[in-house]
Amino acid sequence: MTDTDVIIVGAGAVGLAVGRALASRGQQVIVLEKNDRFGEETSARNSEVIHAGMYYPTGSLKARLCVAGKHAMYQFCAERGISARALGKLIVAPRPEDLPALKVIHDRGHANDIPDLEIIGPERIAQMEPEIVAAAAIWSPSSGIVDSHSYMLALLGVIEDHGGALARNAPFLSAVPIKGGFEVRVGGNEPMTLTTRQLVLSAGLWSTQAGRAVDGLDPALVPETKFAKGNYFTYGGKAPFKHLIYPMPSVGGLGIHVTPDMAGHARFGPDVQPVETLDYRVDETRKSIFAASIRAYWPKLDESLMQPDYTGIRPKIGNALTQFEDFRILDHTVHGLEGLVCLFGIDSPGLTSSFAIGEEVAQRLGQSAL
Ligand SMILES: Cc1cc2nc3c(=O)[nH]c(=O)nc-3n(C[C@H](O)[C@H](O)[C@H](O)COP(=O)(O)OP(=O)(O)OC[C@H]3O[C@@H](n4cnc5c(N)ncnc54)[C@H](O)[C@@H]3O)c2cc1C
Repeated sequence: MTDTDVIIVGAGAVGLAVGRALASRGQQVIVLEKNDRFGEETSARNSEVIHAGMYYPTGSLKARLCVAGKHAMYQFCAERGISARALGKLIVAPRPEDLPALKVIHDRGHANDIPDLEIIGPERIAQMEPEIVAAAAIWSPSSGIVDSHSYMLALLGVIEDHGGALARNAPFLSAVPIKGGFEVRVGGNEPMTLTTRQLVLSAGLWSTQAGRAVDGLDPALVPETKFAKGNYFTYGGKAPFKHLIYPMPSVGGLGIHVTPDMAGHARFGPDVQPVETLDYRVDETRKSIFAASIRAYWPKLDESLMQPDYTGIRPKIGNALTQFEDFRILDHTVHGLEGLVCLFGIDSPGLTSSFAIGEEVAQRLGQSAL
């Protein structure tokens, strides 16, 4: 007998979604969180955009889990009265030369099971967003925004309703495989040792450290996590947008976009800035780069109304700063430790995918689909 069925390391959107999936299948779940509260790191510092799923190579985990996660998130939020709105999004191509690249994204979207994407021309763009200047755009009606805090609170609610618990100020220190599970050392004010049948690492920016702390996990399977900051600026003036407006994506990020937030204000960002440390201050020197990028599709921008807002930091693994890297979800078929699932490189679209990642992890731990 172990103390619990499952220990999940990390109470971000992903760890909590894994907890929801397992608790609702009758598993006894404990989520360990090193901070005072759940969801204070990357899950609280992003664009809160529900992505449609057209950016990722067909067949990748990102493509599959983003599309499945999007549908599941809209449904979960609707059932619980959480704000999630399909505002729709325009990916704008400022110049006619960008059209072939736009078509590639559009066609990949169709291949990724997003049938409602359309390429539209300047007339329709002008009807939808009169101040946007573009040669063409992809219209994605299923893209939207979500109140990520309420979403995480609801996931935690499901865990607790099924008798599970969130342990706050409870850093995971290490794990050792034992017969039928793992022995887990937890630090903090009340250090303890717990035994569990199964262990899930969902530690976001700290996933390399978490992976290295599992005895018997081949270090070659634990990728280095690099940090890529995304700065945001708010707009003091009236930004006349009803939809999400995205430029063409760039390597490592989706381009400096405009997101009308839940309160109806506009926010610009994020950019992609490789950093060595977790410093969440906005780099204000980037304002002019932002302005130039936004003016390419919104010439009326008044740069003087841009104010530094907040930042988030993406966990990047492998060569993610220069090329596509997929989520890494490692189970016993890869590392040989029965009952262990490790999540690495859960950058964007990790929020959108979270619900589906939870389902994926549950199945890899031997639970059947509900
Ligand atoms: C700038 C930016 C914009 C983004 N925009 C979007 C977007 O619009 N849409 C989208 O879908 N995705 C977006 N993302 C990606 C998304 O935010 C993340 O993929 C997602 O939030 C990751 O969730 P997580 O639970 O894996 O990580 P986190 O939210 O970082 O949670 C990990 C948790 O683990 C805890 N932890 C770490 N180590 C330990 C330990 N040893 N013991 C106990 N606890 C530990 C941490 O304290 C943290 O609470 C964006 C990301 C960034 C940075």
